[in-house]
Amino acid sequence: MAGFTTHAEASGLVYHTADTLALPGLRHGFSTRAGGVSRGIFGTLNLGLHRGDAEENVLANYRIFCAALDVPMERCVLSKQVHRSGVKIVLEGDAGAGLLRPQDYEADALITNVPDLPLVIFSADCIPTLYYDPVTRCIGAAHAGWRGTALGISARTVEAMGRVYGARASDIRAAIGPGIARCCFETDGDVPAAMTAAYGAEAAPYLTQKENGKWQVDLKAINAHVLRRAGVLPEHIAVSGACTACDTALYWSHRRLGDARGSLAAVICLR
Ligand SMILES: [Zn+2]
Repeated sequence: MAGFTTHAEASGLVYHTADTLALPGLRHGFSTRAGGVSRGIFGTLNLGLHRGDAEENVLANYRIFCAALDVPMERCVLSKQVHRSGVKIVLEGDAGAGLLRPQDYEADALITNVPDLPLVIFSADCIPTLYYDPVTRCIGAAHAGWRGTALGISARTVEAMGRVYGARASDIRAAIGPGIARCCFETDGDVPAAMTAAYGAEAAPYLTQKENGKWQVDLKAINAHVLRRAGVLPEHIAVSGACTACDTALYWSHRRLGDARGSLAAVICLR
């Protein structure tokens, strides 16, 4: 698996990029909590607008992160995530939706081929994934919690890029960002049952039963598996080793912090 690069700026901003997506004409990044202006339980880089943080601070955080990525903040298109499998085709008219004006859609995945239209996915333990096809020049972003992982949201995003823009899975570059890892994602039997219902015996290597009867589930590895199954080449998939729940000094973690927290964002944009 290819890797990730961490960028630590003099301002205090820290974010990651995936080596698979370090390509000309493309900008992207995975945020951390470091480098924003929010305070208290939102300190400091909270990119979630509706979590109780002051809107002016969240917008200032977007300006900081987007400036570092060199993408137009005012044109960001935000997902409205509902743990389902819908993929929204983002058009020029969606510029600014969810950030500077209301959304009229719900979708856990966004795709577009419009330049200078940053796609934004949120997470705080769930798995953020980003996609780029350098041949047809289209991009995607998807939020994969355990429900979305079982619904195959990552494969559905790749399939939608093919159906809408003609992208071939074997050309698509993918990045699976920071999220809760196997070490911290302890679940009851419902999560492994959902993975086995979706993927059969192929899910088994990513599910471990503990002595106490609970399970540990490797969501990032299952998403990588689902992408390979959809035809994405292993060398085109970067998987972050970072566990959001292990390192709450650097990441927002719903499992560790509950609702008293900010949100991470993954952003991708054609330039
Ligand atoms: Zn962990």
